[in-house]
Amino acid sequence: MLMFENYRKIIKDDMNVLNGIVNPILFCHSYSFDYIEESNNLAVSNPSTGMIIFNLIAISEYLGDMSVHDVLSFCIRMVAHELSHLDQEVDLNRYKNDMQYHSWIERTNESNTIDFLFKNIDFIKNKLGDYSYDIYKDAYMKIMQQGTGYVRSTIENKINMVGDRYILHDKYGRFNNYNSVSLCIHNTSNAADPGTMFILKNKSSFLSPNIIYPIVYEIDKYSRIGVENECNVPGELKIDVYIDDADRRIESVIFRIKNKERYSQDR
Ligand SMILES: [Zn+2]
Repeated sequence: MLMFENYRKIIKDDMNVLNGIVNPILFCHSYSFDYIEESNNLAVSNPSTGMIIFNLIAISEYLGDMSVHDVLSFCIRMVAHELSHLDQEVDLNRYKNDMQYHSWIERTNESNTIDFLFKNIDFIKNKLGDYSYDIYKDAYMKIMQQGTGYVRSTIENKINMVGDRYILHDKYGRFNNYNSVSLCIHNTSNAADPGTMFILKNKSSFLSPNIIYPIVYEIDKYSRIGVENECNVPGELKIDVYIDDADRRIESVIFRIKNKERYSQDR
């Protein structure tokens, strides 16, 4: 019988290998092993935040009777499934309220997961050791006949999503009135800092969402001094956020993500 620590280690190993490869558009920049209240879900992923929660209690209950070999195979599939959701184009409102849409999203996501696992058997075996990919065979044959139907999101959509949901706190209104929206993070502990600028909407060159998301979602961890909106040019919104000690953290996030991007391209 495996202990929580064992499951945690297996899932971490899977995440280290698969994150950014199953989901090149939006990496998981933060995951945890929290208990999810009143839920039997083994894991929950959020395509708007790029975060995943693994429900260790439910996982150990569900997998308790399996052999270690089967647990390894199951966890690879589970982790790949959650990562696949991060890149998936999902209308979260519909997902919550429309059961037919909900199951379509799940079915196409699972097809994409199996498709990925089956096409990358050698790579996964090489990185994560032997696992019983035979259990995917039937599912894969079905996909070959039906197609996955999975819709991958775009970099543009991901950036607009983070702008909508977090930066402007305004789902459909104010954001639409501007031709372009940008976010500038200033480090107040460094007077010479010109600020780190992120384009959130409608500029020709986009930064990777994989750099923007971790910073945006971790802004609360910085001591925020103030947010100012200014309109220098009509139709353009620039949001200035002033924070202490941003430099070190932002640099380390960018370093980590860029290394991961290089890694996944080299594969
Ligand atoms: Zn799912």
